[in-house]
Order: sequence, then C-alpha cells, then structure tokens
Amino acid sequence: MHDPQALRKIVILGGGTAGWMAALPLAQRLRRGGAAPVIELVESAEIGTIGVGEATLPPIRFFNASLGLDNAEFIRRTQASFKLGIEFADWGKVGESFFHGFGDHGPPIDTRSSYAYWLRLRHEGAIGALADWSVPTEMARQGRFTPPLEGPPSAANAYAYAFHFDAGLYAAYLREHALAAGVVRTEGQVVEVERRPGDGFVSALRLADGRRVEGDLFIDCSGFRALLIEGVMQAGFEDWSHWLPCDRALAVPSGRMAQLPPFTRSAATPAGWTWRIPLQHRTGNGHVYCSRFMDDDEAARLLLAGLPTPATDVPRPIRFTAGRRRRCWVGNVVAVGLSSGFLEPLESTSIQLILDAVGRLLMLLPDRSFEPHLAAEFNRLMARQYESIRDFIILHYTLSRRDDQPFWRELRTMPLPDTLAHQIALFRDSGRVAVLDPDGFAEPSWVAIMNGMGVLPRRHDPLTHGIDAAALRGHFARLREAIVGTVRTMPSHDAFLAALAA
Ligand code: FAD
Repeated sequence: MHDPQALRKIVILGGGTAGWMAALPLAQRLRRGGAAPVIELVESAEIGTIGVGEATLPPIRFFNASLGLDNAEFIRRTQASFKLGIEFADWGKVGESFFHGFGDHGPPIDTRSSYAYWLRLRHEGAIGALADWSVPTEMARQGRFTPPLEGPPSAANAYAYAFHFDAGLYAAYLREHALAAGVVRTEGQVVEVERRPGDGFVSALRLADGRRVEGDLFIDCSGFRALLIEGVMQAGFEDWSHWLPCDRALAVPSGRMAQLPPFTRSAATPAGWTWRIPLQHRTGNGHVYCSRFMDDDEAARLLLAGLPTPATDVPRPIRFTAGRRRRCWVGNVVAVGLSSGFLEPLESTSIQLILDAVGRLLMLLPDRSFEPHLAAEFNRLMARQYESIRDFIILHYTLSRRDDQPFWRELRTMPLPDTLAHQIALFRDSGRVAVLDPDGFAEPSWVAIMNGMGVLPRRHDPLTHGIDAAALRGHFARLREAIVGTVRTMPSHDAFLAALAA
C-alpha cells in the first residue's frame, strides 16, 4: 500500500565520489523497498571534484558486491590494484619501518587473540618479531597477491584486502550505473537555497540559470564547501587541528611503477608524511604536511624528490582543517563525504566514512515526518566513528620516537583525547585493546601500530598460561612455516592482475 508520508524526492548536491556512492545504493535499495522517490543529483563541472582519494579499506568490496558490480570490470574500469595494508616508513624513527596489514597475527587460541600468546612468549624471551605471523605482511614482503581461500582458518585465508583505484574513474563508473538505475543528473551551479518558513527545512536549490530543484530530503555531497549542512543549516564544526595540525597537501601523479606493490606506502617527512599508491595506469603520490613547520616549496621539493617514477603533472595544492561536523544530519539535510568532516588520509578512511554514512542513512531512512530521533541516532554513530578514527590517526604521531624535528617533538608530547590516552595506557599496562567503535579499526590494527612503533606492554593476559611454553613455541613455529610456504605458492601481484585482465 502506498505510504502517504513516503519521501517523494531526494536531492543529492555534488557529483564527486560521495555523491555517486550515495546515489546508486539509494536508487537500488529504495526501489527494492517499494519506495521509489525521484533521485536527482546536481553537480557542477565548473566547480569540479577534489580529484584525490585512491586507497580504501576492505569493506569497499562488500559495498561493490551489494551494488552488483562485476569485480573484474570494476578493476579494469578504475585501473585498480590490490591493497593488503600500509607500509609505514620513518614513523617510529628515521630508518625504521613496519606494516599495518589487513589481518590478524594468527588465528585465536582458546578464545584469546594470537597476540596475547605471542606477548607471553615475548616476555619469556622465546619468540621473534610479531610481524612474522601476519599473512598480509608476508605477502607484501614477497610482492604476492591472491584472494583468500574459503575454508577453515589457515595461512591461506588469514587476511583481507582492499583496492587502490582512481576515485575519479570510480565516480564515473558508479554514475553510469546510477543513471541506468533511474537517477536524474542535473548539471548546474547552486547559487541560492530556499527554506521552508517555520522549521527552516531546505525546500529547493536554485541554480545559476534560474532553474529550481525541489526535494524532501537533501544529501549534501558538496565537498569541503559543505554548502547545505554548514552554509545553510549551520551544523557547526568541531576543529581538531590542535591534535592533527597537518593542514595542507600536495598531490601529483607519476608514471606507472614497473612492479606494483600490493600495498600503500606512507613515509614520514620532517613535518608530515607522503603517500604512494600504485595504480595500473599511474602512481598516485602526495605530501600531507603542517604549514606551521614547512613551507609549500620545501613540501613540493621533498615530494618530487621521492617519486618512484617521473611526475606526469605539477603538484596540486589542497588545504584542509581536521575535524568533523558537530551534526551530520540537521533537519532534512544529511552530509556525506568531505562535507561531513575531514581526517588526513593516513589510514584511507574517507571513502569508508562515505560508505558507512550511506549505509546508516539507508538504515535510518526517514519519511516526510523526519522523526528527530533518526537524525540523533545517525549523528551519534557518525560522531563515534569520526572520534575513533581520529584517535587511531593521532596514535601514529604520538607514539613516534622521532626527536629530530620540532614538528615531531610537538606531536609526541601534545595532550591526547581522553579516549586515546586510556587506550594507550591500557595497552602499555596489559596488552589489551579497548573497543572504541565496534564498526571501526579492530584489535589487530591497534596492535599493528603500537607494536610497529615499538610499544611492548608491561604485562600479558594471565589466561595465556594454560598452554605449556614448548607447545606454544611449536604452534608459532608451525604457523610461521605454513605462512611462508603458503605465500610462496601465490602469484605475484602483477601476474594476478594480468591474469584478471586476460
Ligand atoms: P568532491 O569531490 O569535492 O565533490 C564535491 C561535488 O560537489 C562536486 O561534484 C562539485 O561540483 C559539487 N559542488 C560543490 N559546490 C557546488 C555548487 N555550488 N553547485 C553545484 N555543485 C557543487 N579518501 C580515501 O578514502 N582514501 C584516500 O587515499 C584519500 N586520499 C585523500 C587525499 C587528500 C589530500 C584529500 C584532501 C582527500 C583524500 N581522500 C581520500 C578523501 C576523498 O578524496 C574524498 O572523501 C572523496 O573524494 C569524496 O569527496 P566528495 O565527493 O565529498 O567531494
């Protein structure tokens, strides 16, 4: 039966990665749910998109699958490569590096994490480096890739993977599917926003050529401009630059690498860090830095000096402030993408924030009564996610032992958010990890960064003593052998990509 309160029209403002990542699932899911409001996306070629954002987290695979995208076609269309994690160079100390892989350090033992048992043996002086039990780390070391096998836990499936892709090509690919699913695309620049008297809800967007785009629900994907959520609804911005002072980036493409590593590389610099993302047709490179400690010329010089292949363009500057919108949903406006906030791309979390916001919007989809607790719940979930990612990113800076630059000395010693101070103290004392966000980075990720930065907890889990030390050493030795042996049989990342393209 027709619901008289159902949304009649949804307007998405912005056709960047966020706009099209919102449009397609909305069009598909709403139709399946029996509601079929018109979905209209307004974008302006003149304004353009941010044009960066190439590394993702494993849930992007489930997002693509939920949209019915063909994996091989997606990889071809977006020039994607596989990502097993991130290599961090010079973060703990200049010359040191470690790997944050998508996977645990072995299967759990008697309901305790493998790490808990590793830590016990470490305290007994009876085991080597933790990274030796991470399957994605071994795959990255050997430059190999194949998807995990189905079946019981083993070295052949103790990892996950994500993609590196060209976000512009991804948006174009999703746009094609969204248009086929009935989304209406309108090219034009929004110059004015009309609001309803009384509740102040947005009622229409007015375009430069005089056209009006009316709607019931407005999704603000206008990027850093945050035209509706801030410009009109004044949601407020929680500024986190006192914790994350990097405020500029330079992005530059360079030629394709001869061999594509199946991971992102992040190298710390005197006042920030660089990224290197291998794609099939080019390499994405950038430098995130703090303008209080480094000028733009020096940032560009360091970026260009570290490129793996010759630059194919000049560095493009981007400015930002770390923080989040106080409310991502106000009235009938929901912010998705850069309009909802920004955290530096150190752990590739922006596209993840988009897909989670879209998922939550679908879970909490309002009708035209806009019951306020739906917005409150959306805002609660987004705040928790932003804060836990913020803490995870600050962790990389605060644990650094670099003493060679004023930037690093300042970041090492700054006061921390209470949640992160608790997390670090808990880990240092006991090797345990607090769950700050059940949907966010899990224990293996926190352990990978803390261990990679050289933190060895003082105590270990007392419930790991049920197993005799020799038996435990045997278990870890067999696991290490299985990991090395299994990974050796995997194809190289390049060979796997070539086979997929054939
Ligand atoms: P945009 O791409 O800026 O799109 C905004 C849209 O709004 C455009 O279509 C524009 O035309 C439209 N618009 C704006 N104003 C108007 C108007 N008045 N009228 C009509 N249309 C309008 N994310 C990751 O997940 N991984 C990464 O590795 C990563 N790296 C990044 C590196 C840097 C330096 C930066 C800054 C970001 C990075 N991100 C990364 C984030 C990622 O780029 C964004 O999250 C993603 O591209 C989404 O952007 P968006 O769609 O919100 O905004």
